[in-house]
Formats: sequence, C-alpha cells, structure tokens
Amino acid sequence: MVNPASGVVVGEAAATSLAEVDAAVGRAQRAFEGWRKVAPGDRARVLRRFAGLVDAHLEELASLEVRNSGHTIGNARWEAGNVRDVLDYYAGAPERLTGQQIPVPGGLDVTFHEPLGVVGVIVPWNFPMPIAAWGFAPALAAGNTVLLKPAELTPLTALRLAELGREAGLPDDVFTVLPGEGPVVGERFVTHPAVRKVCFTGSTEVGTRIMAGCAAQVKRVTLELGGKSANVVFADADLAKAAATAPYAVFDNAGQDCCARSRILVERPVYDRFLELLEPAVRGFRVEDPALDTAEMGPLISAGQRDRVAGYVDGAKVAFTGSCPEGPGFWYAPTVLLADSPADRHWREEVFGPVVSVLPFDDEADAVRLANDTEYGLSGSVWTRDVGRAIRVARAVEAGNLSVNSHSSVRYWTPFGGMKRSGLGRELGPDALHAFTDVKNVFIATEE
Ligand code: NAD
Repeated sequence: MVNPASGVVVGEAAATSLAEVDAAVGRAQRAFEGWRKVAPGDRARVLRRFAGLVDAHLEELASLEVRNSGHTIGNARWEAGNVRDVLDYYAGAPERLTGQQIPVPGGLDVTFHEPLGVVGVIVPWNFPMPIAAWGFAPALAAGNTVLLKPAELTPLTALRLAELGREAGLPDDVFTVLPGEGPVVGERFVTHPAVRKVCFTGSTEVGTRIMAGCAAQVKRVTLELGGKSANVVFADADLAKAAATAPYAVFDNAGQDCCARSRILVERPVYDRFLELLEPAVRGFRVEDPALDTAEMGPLISAGQRDRVAGYVDGAKVAFTGSCPEGPGFWYAPTVLLADSPADRHWREEVFGPVVSVLPFDDEADAVRLANDTEYGLSGSVWTRDVGRAIRVARAVEAGNLSVNSHSSVRYWTPFGGMKRSGLGRELGPDALHAFTDVKNVFIATEE
C-alpha cells in the first residue's frame, strides 16, 4: 500500500488465498450457530462497546485513512465517526427486531426475521470505512456472521476495525476481514454456497457480474454501484449559495464519490452568472497535503486513476480549473468542463475524479429530461426557491437520494441506494436490517 499523497509505502496486507477464504467461510458458518443465539440485549451491548472503541480510536483510524487513502483529515474523522454512529444506530436493532402477529383462523400466526448466515461484504477503495460499516453493522446486529473484503488498495482501516470488534467482545470468527483480490476473495463469496448474501459496493461493471453469479444460487444481493448525478440549478435559486457549494458536491474526496454531482444543469438565463460565481469557488478550493486541517481535497487514489481522469479532460472544453500541488503523489486539479451536448463522453460516463461538466437547460421539463438521460440513478440536487417545483423535480428525477437546496446524500438514519443501474436494495436507515434477514412465518394450531 502506498500513501497517495507521496507515493511512499505505508503498509502491507497479505492477499488471502482461495483455500484460506474457504476455511474462513467454514469458521464463520460454525460461529453463526453461536452468534445467532446470543441474547438480543447482549448482542446490542457488544455492538455498543464496538462503537465506543471506534470513538476512542477515532484519531488513529482517521490518520491511518489519510495515509492509506489520501483522504483529508477532516473527511477521515467524519468517516471514522460515521462507523461509530452506524454501529450505535444498529446496536438498537437486535432488541427491536420484531415480527408480526397476523390474524388467521384456527390458530396463531407469527413472523420472525431470521438471520441469513454468513454474509460477504465487498468494499471499494473510495470510502473504505463507512461502506464497510454500512454492511457489517446491520448484518451483525441481525445475527449474521460477516466476512469482509476491503479493496486491494485500502485494507488498513478495515483490518484495524476487525481488531477493535474483537476487543469489544465479538466472538471468534463472527467478523473477519479478508484482504485480497476481487476475482479471488470477492468472487468466492459469490460462488461459495455457504455465503448466503453478498453486499457489494463498487463499479456497475463488477456489480452486474456479481448479480449474475448470485443468481445461480438465488443468493441475496445488495448492490451499490456507480453514479452520474445531476445538480439542477433553477434561475430563482440562491445562486451565490448554489455556486459556492457546487464544488464541494463534486470535488469532495477528489471526486471519487459515487454521489458526486458531476453534471451541473443551469437554467439558461442565469448560466453565465452561475459560471462567474462558480469560478472563484473552484479556484479557491484548497487542494493540499490531506493531513493538514485546512485541506479540502487530497490526491487521487493512484496513478492509474489520475490517468483515467485526465483522459476525460483531453480534448474537452475546459472553462477553468483550480490548482494542486506538484511533485510526488497522484494530484489532479479541480476542473470545470463545458459540455457541448449530452452526448459528450465526460457528460455521460462516471469520471470518478475532480471533474464537473456544466450544461444549460431551457425549462423544468428540459431539466428533468436531461437529469434522467443517464443509465445511473444514485443521487442529485435541486436548487430553487419555489417549493412546488422543488418537490415536483425531486419526485421526477429517477434517483435514490435527492436533496433540495443542499447536497446531502448520506445520513445514517435514512435509506441510501440507487435506482436504475446505480444499484439494488438500500443501505442505512430503519429498514436496512431487514435486508440481512429472511421472513419466516410460523402457524400454531389452537384447535383441539
Ligand atoms: P470495483 O468494482 O473495481 O471494485 C470494488 C470491489 O469489488 C473491490 O473490493 C474489488 O476487489 C472487488 N472486485 C473486483 N472484481 C471482483 C469480482 N470479479 N468479484 C468480486 N469482487 C470483485 O470498484 P472500485 O474501482 O473499487 O470503486 C469505484 C466504483 O465504486 C465506482 O463506480 C463508484 O461509483 C462505486 N461506488 C458506489 C457506491 C455506492 O454506494 N453506490 C459507493 C462507493 C463507490
């Protein structure tokens, strides 16, 4: 593993072999028999202790993420805090995982939310800590055992979280982190019959493959995939605020964010004015050593990712750019592109870097049509002072997470996930737990 800000090696993690994955599945399967029987209150207490330990080690986890992933220290603190909060939130679940009692003739009918067994969680490199927790916290709360595969480039925080889980009192083999290759470890989660669910976050390409693989065993699957989200700015919006916040909605985490609002749609009468306001916000965006408290953006994850991003900018119409450090590290300056048409490659494809495309629109119907002209449907924003229009447009945009006069997507209290090819199922919020259980119906005859 290398520090993306300097290229210096920060640690190593041995890749798990196929035989080792199979052995880990066997152990997790045996551990499930014990973990599912742990009294709900005791399971809750272990998860609360786990949350407490994450909180106590927040600074350590955050600085490890800065070194392994190049995240800004401010973001990394939020990410470790999010793991704590998600654990705390789902610690409340085991004692509230109630079924139904359904009126039927001849007896009593009740439902149970049964845990599935071994759950495989596959995590990408862009948000190693939160995405891991969105899978493992509700899965463990519901009584499953978890095998987690971090991304090849960013396994260090996941390995540390597993140690903290053990320290909190999770029994042996209830939560195991298996670093290694996607096509080896991740693929085995798909093909091993004892893994009962795969919870995958990553590219739409790999997710599509995983879904096809899971189909062979009717294996449960949750997919959180790519995005190309729209930030729709109407002429009546608070333009200054819309322009000042737009860079954060796309350049945060150097644009390596599935929710990045990478397409800005601006109503034609205010298009020029919006760009005038956007320029100083982009030029002032602080791209610097991510360990500094003032950093707003760090480097990209790898040299390969930087080359990929640069490929989208080559030949495109650049409106203006911000700046970034020179020298070692995988740096790329925030870049604003003007789209000639919705057919432009940078308008259609997920860049996954600090690049945003801007296009004017004519009216509300045009805005909705352009926003929906994508295979993705993860998130999006609507900027307007007209409440009725805000609601109409938020309802009309085909995406799982919309925000009005704000760019928030992820709140652990509320469901998160994609429509169309951005995914399947929802994470977080009150219902995510049910995605880690199956409903069982039991009828008890009362007739003599
Ligand atoms: P990726 O699909 O290449 O890899 C994701 C994970 O899958 C990694 O752990 C990888 O090792 C593993 N993997 C690779 N091939 C596999 C296979 N054949 N079988 C099983 N597992 C395999 O994605 P990435 O490049 O790491 O992440 C970037 C992508 O993730 C972007 O498209 C981004 O939009 C998406 N993403 C989505 C969300 C969301 O919640 N919707 C969040 C973050 C990232």
